[in-house]
Amino acid sequence: MATFGVRFLGCKVSHLDAQEVRERLLADGHTERKGEADVAIVNTCCVTNEALAKSRQAVSRAARTHGRVYVTGCAANLEGEPFRGLPRNVVVVRRRSEETPAAVAADLGALGCVQDDARLERVRAFVKIQDGCSFSCNFCVIPLVRGGTRSRRADAVLREIRRRVAQGHREIVLTGINLGCFRDRAAGYTLARLVREAGQTPGLARVRLSSIEINHVSDELVSALRDTPTVARHLHVPLQSGDDGVLQAMGRRYSASTYLRRLDGLEDFNLTADVIVGFPAEDEHAFANTLRIVRQARLTKLHVFPYSPRPGTKTAGNDPVPAAVKKERSARLRAQSDAACLAHWRSKLGRDDVVLVDRPGRGYGDDYSPWLVRGQVGQLVRVRAAGVTEEGILAA
Ligand code: SF4
Repeated sequence: MATFGVRFLGCKVSHLDAQEVRERLLADGHTERKGEADVAIVNTCCVTNEALAKSRQAVSRAARTHGRVYVTGCAANLEGEPFRGLPRNVVVVRRRSEETPAAVAADLGALGCVQDDARLERVRAFVKIQDGCSFSCNFCVIPLVRGGTRSRRADAVLREIRRRVAQGHREIVLTGINLGCFRDRAAGYTLARLVREAGQTPGLARVRLSSIEINHVSDELVSALRDTPTVARHLHVPLQSGDDGVLQAMGRRYSASTYLRRLDGLEDFNLTADVIVGFPAEDEHAFANTLRIVRQARLTKLHVFPYSPRPGTKTAGNDPVPAAVKKERSARLRAQSDAACLAHWRSKLGRDDVVLVDRPGRGYGDDYSPWLVRGQVGQLVRVRAAGVTEEGILAA
């Protein structure tokens, strides 16, 4: 029997990929152990240069303390062999996410089924409904390392949600690379229908979408979000840029005005977004447009990514904006985001919310605003906003 540890870098999908390997190894009879173990699985990320460097460091560290290290996930599938030169106990698994758990398990050897219902380590349960992307944005490496879009069957997703709720998870996050592409044509499901049915799972307190492209914010989806009482009042809608020229150069499929129009009527949702700063076509005027659209769309929390070219993409050889300019623009955008968050939190003063405590002293409310609260981890607590700090809303 092998002892193993799993870690991931990057997004929620990477977290889920790591979780699937973990569950498979537990089901095969291996034992999970924190710290030293025979085997480490590192599910990697390559969305930026920094993420790739951190993935390499994590693998290199694990190779010193484990007998064998399996490198899985996006960076393992990146062209150019980014893990070349690491010690011989490092095994790079170049597989699609759905094939990876079986590939690692086969290499390690099965030991008989002893734990086939592993609970997730986190309070909110991420459930993958879709993987891959067929949008081909010019800067993005994800379609190259994860492949085109494909969906899970709706009945498998709904079954997993029921299993997670039975395990005690009160909040489910429907997760994927490009969630709006979810379809189960054979069973007649769109994302909207899936949301409606997932939201009716007995015992479930809250369901949210991890992220949704603006092209997929349709009337059908918005109705499903509005009609389902368990749906959280939060949407993460990648913007990437607020300038039409930059959006076009990025190969995004919308204009700034479409982005604003589709969010019209969602005033009661907390809207958050990803923005790329310092894309090749971005000058000061274009960046000013981004600041403006962020304000007009009422976005609060922004994930700001300074542009870094990814190998194999259309813009791989193009990076003219100096690093210092990217840094300065990123700081301005983050400052605007911080101010928008504070204003949003202040607007809640004196009002009630239900917070899912996910760490000691902290949790998130219905619209994914952070709260400083007392309560047991995993519990939903009813609170009133008594103040605001830079870290979140103070519960009375
Ligand atoms: S929508 Fe564009 S940015 Fe998002 S994963 Fe697909 S290709 Fe990448």
